[in-house]
Amino acid sequence: MKMAHLTSETFDQNARGTLQNVQLRGALRKLAATFGERRRTVLATSEDWESWREQARQIKDETLVHLDSYLEQFAENAENAGAQIHWARDGKEACAIVLNLINEQSASKVVKSKSMATEEIHLNTALEAAGINPIETDLGEWIIQLAGETPSHIVVPAIHKTKNQIADLFVEKVGIELTEDVDVLTRTARKILRSKFAEAEIGISGVNFGVAETGTILILENEGNVRLTTSLPKTHIAVMGIEKVIPKFADLDVFLKLLPRSGTGQRLTTYQSLITGTKRNSGDEGPEEVHIILMDNGRSKMLAHPVTRQSLACIRCGACLNACPVYQTVGGHAYGSVYPGPIGAVITPQLIGFGKAKQLPYASSLCGACREVCPVKIDIPELLLHLRAEITEGTANGTERRKSAKRNFGERLAFSFYSFAWSSPTLYKLGTKMARLIQRPLLKNGRIGKVSGFLARLAPPLGAWTAWRDAPAIAPQSFREKWRDELKAKGKS
Ligand code: SF4
Repeated sequence: MKMAHLTSETFDQNARGTLQNVQLRGALRKLAATFGERRRTVLATSEDWESWREQARQIKDETLVHLDSYLEQFAENAENAGAQIHWARDGKEACAIVLNLINEQSASKVVKSKSMATEEIHLNTALEAAGINPIETDLGEWIIQLAGETPSHIVVPAIHKTKNQIADLFVEKVGIELTEDVDVLTRTARKILRSKFAEAEIGISGVNFGVAETGTILILENEGNVRLTTSLPKTHIAVMGIEKVIPKFADLDVFLKLLPRSGTGQRLTTYQSLITGTKRNSGDEGPEEVHIILMDNGRSKMLAHPVTRQSLACIRCGACLNACPVYQTVGGHAYGSVYPGPIGAVITPQLIGFGKAKQLPYASSLCGACREVCPVKIDIPELLLHLRAEITEGTANGTERRKSAKRNFGERLAFSFYSFAWSSPTLYKLGTKMARLIQRPLLKNGRIGKVSGFLARLAPPLGAWTAWRDAPAIAPQSFREKWRDELKAKGKS
């Protein structure tokens, strides 16, 4: 199974495949342990953590409710500072705008910094189809570009690769002697990428935050490649999801505290590039043209409902991935989306449609670890349940509605019978006695199901439960029976 080509539609098969990958599971365990520990360490000395979270969430909520006016304010101020604003309804339009800008300048040399928004719209594929080969300049992104893969984590895109695999890749694609010396590998990448920066005509980046008050964009990073991408080429194109806008410059303070601490356990990222328009004087450093593409691509739909709206508060720190037992087990590629993990399970179906990703809201144990670590207090379990309800009730789209209507009839019938039987004490007693008898040959260690290794599946429809998990056995005695026995034992019957 080539992990780069997995789709969200086949999440269950993908997950079964990646479960067999021992090396991947080792890498994911290491990721969770390392990032979890770093985060815990930095939070131990961040006494105001909870109030920062609260403050950030309030800023996001307020912004999202008035998103239209903040976007207009952002656009106006960015234009006043010399930037050019473009509006893209979807990914296709955003890619077309980027391509037009490149063509207008008859440019062919393009460098890119890591950007989930551009991954989301498959910008590289669109540019490559038009004969432009953008070079990724974040080390992890460059590695997976060389490998022809997609990111498996929103902060550490090449987390699924071992040092040996990267060494082999460098031999094959870069032509160096085989070495596992990390310094040699990074120096090689640095040398190659520096020459790409020097000759680049266009630099493409994403945006972490856009400040409405000043028209400034902020991009965070640790390698220095964003700064080179956005300042060396004559033209800088920034692709920004419309949810990235925040009202005031001072609001950055709280997000700058939350994002690095939550994502990588740092107090601050190594670089914070604040860009307000173009360079002012010809002798200044920086691009002559700055283009900011404000992209919707499904975000307006998320905005429309108070529950799904909170998906747009995400600051892409990656903490929910590191904390998620499902992500830690199956890895990012199994989700078949550039957004994996809990936040991916929430936004991917909303971005690409339930028809293509309806398994993802079920890729969760609802343990709540994601909600606990989220720096902007997104209630991901609530979102997952909301999306599951939409899928079940068929509000996702017409086809779903028809399919689920049939399913609902069966469910309604089963629950009517259950309600009838459990409303009568006699039927209830009889039913539980019979169930205890029936389960007897199926039990192993007090459980029924595939995981206990005894029975592959119960008969349908209960088999849908035991195909993936054990069902606990019905207790040998009911509460009433136990109580009666206790009273008898005390001589109070
Ligand atoms: S949902 Fe929260 S924890 Fe997950 S990436 Fe977004 S901000 Fe970070």
